[in-house]
Amino acid sequence: MLYDAVVIGAGPAGITAALYLVRSGVSVALVENAAPGGQILSTAEIENYPGFPKSIKGWELADLFDAHLAGYPVDRVRGQVLSVTRADDRTFRLALEDGKTLDAKAVVACTGAHHRKLGAPGEDAFAGKGVSYCAVCDGNFYRGRDVAVVGGGNSALEEALYLSRIVNKVYLIHRREAFRGAMIYQNKVRETPNIELVTGSVVDEIRGGNLGMDSVVVRRLDSGDIRVIPVDGIFLYVGMEPVSGYLPPEVNRDAAGFVLTDAEMCASVPGVFAAGDLRAKRCRQVSSAVGDGATAATAALSYLEQWNA
Ligand code: NAP
Repeated sequence: MLYDAVVIGAGPAGITAALYLVRSGVSVALVENAAPGGQILSTAEIENYPGFPKSIKGWELADLFDAHLAGYPVDRVRGQVLSVTRADDRTFRLALEDGKTLDAKAVVACTGAHHRKLGAPGEDAFAGKGVSYCAVCDGNFYRGRDVAVVGGGNSALEEALYLSRIVNKVYLIHRREAFRGAMIYQNKVRETPNIELVTGSVVDEIRGGNLGMDSVVVRRLDSGDIRVIPVDGIFLYVGMEPVSGYLPPEVNRDAAGFVLTDAEMCASVPGVFAAGDLRAKRCRQVSSAVGDGATAATAALSYLEQWNA
């Protein structure tokens, strides 16, 4: 079947794009690789999405987004898109990992970004045995124990705060003295008695044995001093990598692979739009993803008008 638009990814950007498209009367498929919600599913509390002054749990907001779309005739397709190619001059063909294909006049890419790996020795060996990228998913395993968090952005600060309410002690390891995360989180982190800041320091190794990791080797960058910190778990938040590899090579990206768009969310290939964390931009928030999704859908609708003319 040829859809007017296929939206790839069911996070806040994708759900919003699908909602705006279907409400405008065009045929829409939404390809979802995992449960709807994207990264907010692994976010404990969302404090900065307007309308929820007492904050909302990530999974609750994901459920609300999904429920909002549920009443509309969007084809929900479960799967992972492996490639987007040309079916002909005017249409795109999306190949899914199960061999299915979908054809579309317009493609709205909303596949977001994954947490980047740190690249430290021991990171792979102890993955799932102490090394985690999701405090909400795994934090409870470390109740009453000591853990480390690595990074200085909003994710690291927020998740260190979340973990501090569960575990005995959090060592927050960051390579610089200054944090890049929001001041409100920096202040909270500094005021939390069971968070120890280990700044100006990098992780040289994650160590352990058969039962899992048991310590992290940290090196001060100015003096070279080594400190071995005994922890049962380490949560790595050292930035994001875009999920953009399935898009055609003609779609321009920045050096890190984030998709370059104009202010209307149009990518460099006509008919391809990108919204949310996948896009090269500064602000990666639920609210900006929702805005991107609405903008991309609006631009896609103009494109479809020309397509059908
Ligand atoms: P980020 O803002 O890119 O921060 C990554 C952190 O990891 C930086 O502090 C960086 O250090 C550090 N880092 C990078 N590579 C490293 C390495 N090899 N070794 C040690 N440290 C390394 O990533 P993020 O925190 O995952 O956030 C991603 C985006 O989502 C951001 O735009 C963020 O604002 C947004 N976000 C927002 C919220 C919220 O507002 N509630 C929550 C989560 C995420 P340097 O600082 O030295 O570069």
